[in-house]
Amino acid sequence: KGKKFRENIDGVISKYKKITPEEASCFRKFKQFPLSSATINGLNEAGFTEPTDIQRQSIFLSLIGNDVVGAAKTGSGKTIALLVPVLESLWRNKWTREDGLGALIITPTRELACQIFQVLNQIGKNHDFSAGVLIGGTDIEYERDRLGHVNIVVATPGRLLQHLDENESFRCHMLQILVVDEADRILDMGFKDQLNAIVENLPKERQTLLFSATQTRNVKDLARVCAKDPVFVSVHEHSD
Ligand code: ADP
Ligand code: MG
Repeated sequence: KGKKFRENIDGVISKYKKITPEEASCFRKFKQFPLSSATINGLNEAGFTEPTDIQRQSIFLSLIGNDVVGAAKTGSGKTIALLVPVLESLWRNKWTREDGLGALIITPTRELACQIFQVLNQIGKNHDFSAGVLIGGTDIEYERDRLGHVNIVVATPGRLLQHLDENESFRCHMLQILVVDEADRILDMGFKDQLNAIVENLPKERQTLLFSATQTRNVKDLARVCAKDPVFVSVHEHSD
């Protein structure tokens, strides 16, 4: 799978070599991006036609294969910025339910996990991937039974680690893309060790995206540990 991943990404990169980041930063519609039609239709049908600033900048950089550390204030649209590369990564690799876990999204709270899951179900509805949440508050056996063919998992750090430690059938070895949402908050909440323990279980050949409201020193330290030559994208508010 690793090789397949390379070939597909290389193919896409060469196909879109004509597009420079400067040109991409002028894209005003999602349909101008090199995305699958399933994703473009999912976005448009959910009412999202024009990318926000953080989406415009980070999606293109992610699509051409970079690890990305994105910072933009709350409400700027980071959920779609992280979900589009997740869907495209699996789509490009012709992921099927039988391929198991391909994408992992870590977020600090249950509420945020459920919000992300909801948006994923909206914009991903034209794809054939299965998705689930691991957030605790339910029977771990119940989560375990449903994990077998899940392609995209949205999880809180504690519960995810519990599955990694206790659940033999939870296998991450095919993982293509890791996303850490609200990385600053995860660190503020004291989840640093859990996060490091999770990342140690993941394959090194993967794409990593980190999102936060602010680009703190802690976030940069985390990026050093879990991302490879990341591109830093920071969207500032215009003040006038
Ligand atoms: P953040 O994670 O940065 O705090 P969210 O992803 O939760 O922001 O998005 C904030 C709000 O903006 C949501 O209500 C979402 O539906 C809306 N939104 C996101 N992207 C777009 C877009 N491209 N066009 C219109 N609305 C959007
Ligand atoms: Mg968010």
